[in-house]
Amino acid sequence: MIYADNAATTRMSETAVNTLISVMNGNWGNPSSLYMHGQKAKETVEKAREKIAAAIGADPREIFFTSGGSEADNQAILSAVAQGKRNGRNHVISTVFEHHAVLNTLEKLKKDGCEVTLLDVYENGIVHPEDLEAAIRDTTCLVTVMYANNEIGTIQPVRELGEICRRHKVPFHVDAVQAVGHIPVDVVGDNIDMLSASAHKFHGPKGVGFIYAKKGIKLSSLIEGGAQERGKRAGTENVPGIASMAEALAESTEKMAENAQYITKLRNRLIEGLSVIPHSALNGDAERRLPGNVSFCFEGIEGESLLLLLDDRGICASSGSACTSGSLDPSHVLLSIGRVHDVAHGSLRLSIDEEITEADVDYIISSVREVVEYLRGFSPIWRDLTEGRKQFIL
Ligand SMILES: *Cc1c(COP(=O)(O)O)cnc(C)c1O
Repeated sequence: MIYADNAATTRMSETAVNTLISVMNGNWGNPSSLYMHGQKAKETVEKAREKIAAAIGADPREIFFTSGGSEADNQAILSAVAQGKRNGRNHVISTVFEHHAVLNTLEKLKKDGCEVTLLDVYENGIVHPEDLEAAIRDTTCLVTVMYANNEIGTIQPVRELGEICRRHKVPFHVDAVQAVGHIPVDVVGDNIDMLSASAHKFHGPKGVGFIYAKKGIKLSSLIEGGAQERGKRAGTENVPGIASMAEALAESTEKMAENAQYITKLRNRLIEGLSVIPHSALNGDAERRLPGNVSFCFEGIEGESLLLLLDDRGICASSGSACTSGSLDPSHVLLSIGRVHDVAHGSLRLSIDEEITEADVDYIISSVREVVEYLRGFSPIWRDLTEGRKQFIL
């Protein structure tokens, strides 16, 4: 099997698995218990907090553990909006192509009277900082923009956006789930006030993540209960998950530069190999994208059929995001960069990691070429296009 769907989830690293098992076996106390066995678990959680803070340039007291990226996104947004309400501010700025953990939270807030501006990301999938500057109002209580997009991999000018927010004294949240562990993230240099991350996107376990909240930012708890995480997140800590996440992140951070260089080289080989397919196009900026992200649209085919046939050949890939696949609506991300419905339906996302080899990449290229040609062979849309009843777009 060739796994090329690392944006959906990653395989746990050996270190992450070993840490998880060893904590489950020998360190299963409750961190809130006062006896030694509990305190050992508490120490494990605090060591993990230090490691995680170090990886993003934060102070350990600014890290709060959550059940993953979605919870962290929800908490960051709801906290800022609650704080805004206290200050008479109810306007939030985000982008059209955020993850649904952000977009659906904003949708819910709109029903409660919140005003939301979604910035355009243009054809290359990148926000224009001047658009943010123009959108900020006296009533803006939050700007939330993703670090890197989960479907098309484009990287946002986070530092510049953060600088604008700082100048206007507006809290800046970044969904960095696709970035942390893959590209350098520095909450101080990047002017970030709140950040979300998730372990299973950087070779850690599923169901655990964290939120960074800069000193002075007020987080509200989503869950009522005990005083864990200094009152910001009730519930007994997921000690094995937290310890395992910290090891996974430390390892990803240590190998980041080397891995990114290797993965980028193979990503570019993939892009070159797939660009040869007629009436195809790369989605998102060619340079300002995650090292491992390749996203294409092929005219005249259905992405779902392409995925099934690639699966038959042992290749795991994705069309749109895992959250939207299964629905017939085309991806909101592809629509946001101007792909029309027909074109957006023929999409393919390959997200590779350091385990992939050059031979794997060449096998993917030849498989995609063959499968696209095969599917076009009996596609009524393709026939309309080639016989001139419909205009080619790509
Ligand atoms: C995966 C992902 C999330 C959700 O994280 P979970 O830990 O799966 O809840 C949020 N945002 C982005 C950009 C993601 O890729």
